[in-house]
Amino acid sequence: MAKYKLEYIWLDGYTPVPNLRSKTQIKEYESFPTLEQLPNWGFDGSSTQQAEGRSSDCVLKPVAVFPDTTRKNGVLVMCEVMMPDGVTPHPSNSRATILDDPGAWFGFEQEYFLYQDGRPLGFPEGGYPAPQGPYYTGVGYKNVGDIARQIVEEHLDLCLDAGINHEGINAEVAKGQWEFQIFGKGSKKCADQMWVARYLLIRLCEKYCVDVEFHCKPLGKDLDWNGSGMHANFSTDYLRETGGKEYFEALMAAFAKNLNEHIAVYGPDNHMRLTGLHETQSIDKFTYGIADRGSSVRVPHSFINNGYKGYLEDRRPNSQGDPYAIASRILATIAEVPKP
Ligand code: ADP
Ligand code: MN
Ligand code: MN
Ligand code: MN
Ligand code: MN
Repeated sequence: MAKYKLEYIWLDGYTPVPNLRSKTQIKEYESFPTLEQLPNWGFDGSSTQQAEGRSSDCVLKPVAVFPDTTRKNGVLVMCEVMMPDGVTPHPSNSRATILDDPGAWFGFEQEYFLYQDGRPLGFPEGGYPAPQGPYYTGVGYKNVGDIARQIVEEHLDLCLDAGINHEGINAEVAKGQWEFQIFGKGSKKCADQMWVARYLLIRLCEKYCVDVEFHCKPLGKDLDWNGSGMHANFSTDYLRETGGKEYFEALMAAFAKNLNEHIAVYGPDNHMRLTGLHETQSIDKFTYGIADRGSSVRVPHSFINNGYKGYLEDRRPNSQGDPYAIASRILATIAEVPKP
């Protein structure tokens, strides 16, 4: 038997953006625990905007488990928040609203800024660095600074060690801005891994006295500094295996009809980012286009070449969006469209 440190992680009740919360409990197991071996746990919901003080207990229900190589016998336990009965999802529990579909695949591209002393890493005090241009996929001290790459590399290793399905990382267009991509098969898998990857990044940055800035336009909407998105690439069994022009056009019509419902969960302050500039479409328009990074949904060349089959990229979700709510909304719209 060994004592394992179980880090239960959940989303609090803050709006419009939930915060990650976590706490540790120690339990003995013969070997690394499986999901089935992890008990429900409780927390004080009155401290997380999830309950009143008089009846403050909320329940943590483990839903995904990952090794944590930064701690001896460390375990990361992603949880859903349940009501005190342990079976009713709490109103803040966006994961519980996702349709179960093992054939739904998502790939999220998370952009973010690293911040120190109130400005992006590499920005001079009280001013701006050289304009955007060399930073995207850049190399060299003047482009990426000193500690950013160390953080990004360490984060990548932590995630890979945890079994998170990273597909890649890159320096982004603004100085101090980075991206990682995660892909997962199953309607909840990618979103679970995204939240744990965010958790690991935020926690890692503590020791560098750096904060992760997930706001979609931290430098304001008027300056020529890119915002941060979280493009959502998605497909279903039907889209990959059958597809077709008629189905595709019906699907895009449903996306157009549900414009407001999608924008509502695609992250706060998105009007600052979805302006029609910087490879975005305006927030109040829905368009799609082949290989078009200025449209709401980009249709990859491969999708058309394969006879309207494959995956699509919704470019509107922003860096602060809740991947659970985003996946939930995309699958709800897909479910509205009859298959011919
Ligand atoms: P971009 O040019 O926008 O950065 P990429 O081609 O690099 O786009 O990334 C597209 C992402 O789409 C991949 O990272 C992957 O996660 C995701 N993806 C690829 N195939 C599928 C699929 N069949 N279903 C859902 N997502 C997919
Ligand atoms: Mn206590
Ligand atoms: Mn990308
Ligand atoms: Mn990007
Ligand atoms: Mn993209």
